[in-house]
Amino acid sequence: MNIPPFRYLRVADEKGALDALATRDVALLAGGTNLVDLMRLGVSRPSVVVDMGGMPLTGIEATAEGLALGAMARNSDVANHPMVREQFPVLAEALLSGASPQLRNLATVGGNLLQRTRCAYFRDVDNAACNKRKPGSGCAAMEGWTRMHAVLGTSDACIAAHPSDMCVALVALDAVVHVRGPKGDRAIPIADFHTLPGDHPEIETMLAREELIVSVTVPRTPFARRSRYVKARDRASYAFALASCAACLEIEGGVVKQARVALGGVATKPWRSVDAERGLFGKPPSAEAFLGAGEMAMRGARVRPGVAFKVELGKRVVARALELAARMS
Ligand code: SF4
Repeated sequence: MNIPPFRYLRVADEKGALDALATRDVALLAGGTNLVDLMRLGVSRPSVVVDMGGMPLTGIEATAEGLALGAMARNSDVANHPMVREQFPVLAEALLSGASPQLRNLATVGGNLLQRTRCAYFRDVDNAACNKRKPGSGCAAMEGWTRMHAVLGTSDACIAAHPSDMCVALVALDAVVHVRGPKGDRAIPIADFHTLPGDHPEIETMLAREELIVSVTVPRTPFARRSRYVKARDRASYAFALASCAACLEIEGGVVKQARVALGGVATKPWRSVDAERGLFGKPPSAEAFLGAGEMAMRGARVRPGVAFKVELGKRVVARALELAARMS
């Protein structure tokens, strides 16, 4: 498909980006690994593309509270950073499980937060109805091929799975997204950043149209070091999750003191299961306890033909991630 003409603008700082966002129909270009695809497919047709490649938001820094990631920090730089690998291993693992080395070298933290679903119907502008792409037009996936779709957090309007691995780890780690806009700065807990589809699947995050993501902070918690990411997928690399889990544990006196369980591939947004976490509290780490957590995490799943297998897969992926986290010293 031919890409319609658009204006290209390169900005060097936050003010330039915010000024550009004040006009309508603008798309921000970070790594371009999602936006360029969507423009080629005709899903995204901005009048202005604002290239943020020159912006100095690339920091990966230790702070008194934990870790601060600039919105333009590259996925590969974050994943390979010694502090991330040592203190937040689940984040490094999640990032390294996503896409390919070439894509990770370009993809950014901010872009990853805003990446759009891989639902095949969403990307098929010529043949498929899609409420997310065109509100009110219907959803071809409901009666279609659903292997990659969600079973948690779905609505009658949309069942698309959220595609990110990084965001699942950030949910488990209690990260916070920092945004800047004309009305000032906001700090949004990552668990609230992505929204459920409900009747408006075209709205995917809490970010206002004129706001810019500037950074993500990750607190240093007692459970961050003992953390693992497990991803089940159709190919060993360069594939989106069928089911994934970021699991963090704090174990004291032979029992679970704190747990974090977040899932990907099975839900319409990066999915934290507080029920699974509570169910583990005070229990000795065991295969039985971890399978029980998996069961709780998948409770409430709404299945359709073609995707029912994710309930059992999700349960086992949760149990496996918890088991691997428990084995860490
Ligand atoms: Fe569109 Fe969502 Fe339906 Fe996919 S599942 S076709 S993204 S409305």
